[in-house]
Parts: sequence; structure tokens; C-alpha cells
Amino acid sequence: MTEAPAISARGLRRVFGNGVVALDDVDFDLHRGEVVSIVGPSGSGKSTLIASLNGLETPDAGEITIAGERIPLGRERVWRRVRQEVGMVFQDYALFPHLSVLQNMTLAPVRRGRMRRAEADGLAMDLLARVGLAAKAHARPIELSGGQQQRVAIVRALAMRPKVLLFDEPTSALDPETIRDVLEVMQSVARDGMTMAVVTHELGFAREIADRLVFMADGRVIEEGRPAALLDNPRTQRLADFLRHLLHR
Ligand code: ADP
Ligand code: MG
Repeated sequence: MTEAPAISARGLRRVFGNGVVALDDVDFDLHRGEVVSIVGPSGSGKSTLIASLNGLETPDAGEITIAGERIPLGRERVWRRVRQEVGMVFQDYALFPHLSVLQNMTLAPVRRGRMRRAEADGLAMDLLARVGLAAKAHARPIELSGGQQQRVAIVRALAMRPKVLLFDEPTSALDPETIRDVLEVMQSVARDGMTMAVVTHELGFAREIADRLVFMADGRVIEEGRPAALLDNPRTQRLADFLRHLLHR
């Protein structure tokens, strides 16, 4: 028997109050253990899609199924449970500034009852060591570089022991020299078998790490397939233009 996809979305539609159609009948699947990269021009609906998959945005229409369970749109109590399994990493880290690195990592697991304090502390320290930041456990986020903060944000998400991790442009706010460190952490998380959807303009990551590439424009999925196939032979002019634009930034 085949397993249900980790996440399956059908017919997602989101129209903002200003009339902008951010999602226009989007289907999206994420299979267990799969890494999917999502690319597309600014305003194409990538963030709205990814945020809809853990209930931070609520589509106006469509269906979302998580591990085979249909999750009613907008039913916040159920989505709070989903968010324990479907973690998210944002462009701007979103660490709590008044908490230490370690406190940032253990707050949700302990408060949500995922694990006891001692277990959460142990897991957090293991994860910090893994990304070379054990010495920063008691530092405040502001004492860390952007790249270090983003590595903390990634291991903070892992500290919940999620089944799926969603990333929204995790390296877009970083200096070129720190981007590589963050991509290496994401690569090692992917190698460990994490199910991941990653909005990114890092085409090297998309080509080498992702199993599948999804290209969005105007709130729609325009093309998807094996990353190398899409990047080397875009079928649509939209994707060809987008890739040319990225390369000449
Ligand atoms: P992307 O992440 O691909 O840049 P977004 O999902 O952020 O795209 O946005 C898709 C479209 O929806 C854009 O036109 C954006 O301006 C619009 N949009 C996003 N969030 C809101 C909001 N809260 N209110 C109104 N319009 C929004
Ligand atoms: Mg975005």
C-alpha cells in the first residue's frame, strides 16, 4: 500500500481584500522524504502557498490533507496541532529577541507538551552542536550574525521533531558568505530524510538537493518536474525568462 503524501493540496485559491489573486487553483503535493523547491517571481504566491500548508494563511477555497487527514481550512484548533508536525523557517529568522538561543529552542516543545524540560534541553544542545553553535546556547539572538540566527531558526524548528519543514526564502536576507553555511545545514537536514518544501532562489540547492522543482507565476503552478530537466530545458517562456532574469541579477 502506498503511503498518503505528507501534504496534499488541491484547488487552493486565495484572493486578498485588494482583489489580488495570490493563489489561483493551485495543486501541490509533498511526499514523505521528498525535498521540493519552489521558485517564481516576486508576488507569484510562493509565500501564500507555503504559509497555507501549516495554517498561517487561510485559503478561501480548496482542500488540504496532512498525512492523509483532511484539515478544515481556518479551523485554528486543528491547525495548531498541525503546526507541531509541520514546522516553518522564515526569511527573517523570527527568533524571540528577549530569550536566549536555548530558550528559543525549548519554549515550544515544552509549552506544547511535546517533551519534558530535560529532554528538550538535551535535544536542543545536540542540535546546536550539530550546527556548530553549542557555545551560543546562552547568547541572545542579537549577539549572533544573520547566518547564525538562521541556523538557530532551523534547529529551533527541528527541536519540535516535526514531520515536515517548510522554508520561505531562508537565505534571502543573508550575506553571500553566510548563505553557504545555512544551505549546508538544510542539505544535511534533507540527507537525514526530512520532508521539505523550500521557497528559494538558490538554484544550486534546487538542482542538487531538491527531488522536484515547482515554478509559480501569477498564483499558479506553471511547470514542475525534475530540477535539472526544468532548469536546463524550461518548457515555457515564463520559466525561461525567469531563469535568465535570475542569472543576470
Ligand atoms: P511571493 O512570496 O511569491 O513573492 P506572495 O505569496 O507573498 O508572493 O504574494 C502573492 C500576491 O499576494 C502578491 O501580489 C502580494 O502583493 C499579495 N499579498 C500577499 N499578502 C497579502 C496581504 N496580506 N494583503 C494583500 N495582498 C497580499
Ligand atoms: Mg515570498
